[in-house]
Amino acid sequence: MQEKQNAIIWIQGKLCRPSEAKVSVYDRSYLYGDSLYEVVRTYHGQVYGMKDHLARLRATARLCSLDIAQSNKDIDSACQETIGAYQKQEGNPRADVYCRLVISRGEGKIGFGKNNLETKSLLTVIVQPIEEPSEAKRKEGAKLKIVERLRLDRRALEPAAKTGNYLNCLLAYIEAAEAGFDDALMCDEDGHVTEGTTFNLFYVKRGILVTPPLDIGILDGITRREVIELARGLGVPVRETRFPKERLYEADEVFLTGTIKEIMPVSNIDGRAIGAKTQTSPRPVTDRLWAEFRNRTRGASP
Ligand code: PMP
Repeated sequence: MQEKQNAIIWIQGKLCRPSEAKVSVYDRSYLYGDSLYEVVRTYHGQVYGMKDHLARLRATARLCSLDIAQSNKDIDSACQETIGAYQKQEGNPRADVYCRLVISRGEGKIGFGKNNLETKSLLTVIVQPIEEPSEAKRKEGAKLKIVERLRLDRRALEPAAKTGNYLNCLLAYIEAAEAGFDDALMCDEDGHVTEGTTFNLFYVKRGILVTPPLDIGILDGITRREVIELARGLGVPVRETRFPKERLYEADEVFLTGTIKEIMPVSNIDGRAIGAKTQTSPRPVTDRLWAEFRNRTRGASP
């Protein structure tokens, strides 16, 4: 539990240890998964992309009819304060961290009555060491399973909303993990690939980069956006289009994207090797994007 001991929590304006951070059992996040969240990370000790994450948090709040009492400035300073305290504790102002900011609708009564929705949103921030995939794992690539469980229909619960209700993704993960895979990919009811449990997905075929479109019902991933922009800058054609799982089996390269995993190659889907049938197969497009992304996020490391 090293990770948990090192963590620092911000709650109700105070910094504390995880064991001291308490939320009421009447908090709606606990009762109903009625909360929103974002995960940001640092590079060389500085938060990356906070503006984009706050904009997505506001978009999620609109999708969930949740009034956030805290301003963007309040949220940003709570994160900065917690990250600063963590870095001080580590004696390293450039220590990199995982920072999760959660907004719950707040403490109310059990039940859906209108009065029960008149709560004040609660902000908490969790800062802990970042766990990045090892270089060896990046080289080996992830092994994914396309699970039976479907991604939520947009009309039921919009997957673009980054809420604390993650059971759809968690149950997909359990299905894949129990079958011996690293993680899961989900399809929609028409059999089109949507996204992974905590990541977006791309494939490359004959030099063209393909990814499911936002209107299929996926999270508008911030890393996804950056990868599309980088690819266009490199002259790699990008198509946002629906496709069935067979396209992935026949792809030259597949990779996933997310704030913590960044750009991670996928080596195997449903037990089928992707691309050339060796683990050391070249991944020219993935490698170029990864080099550009590293440069953008880390610059020339001093
Ligand atoms: N899809 C889902 C379901 C996710 O939970 C995440 C992680 N936030 C992503 C995609 C990737 O998004 P981002 O690049 O903004 O981390």
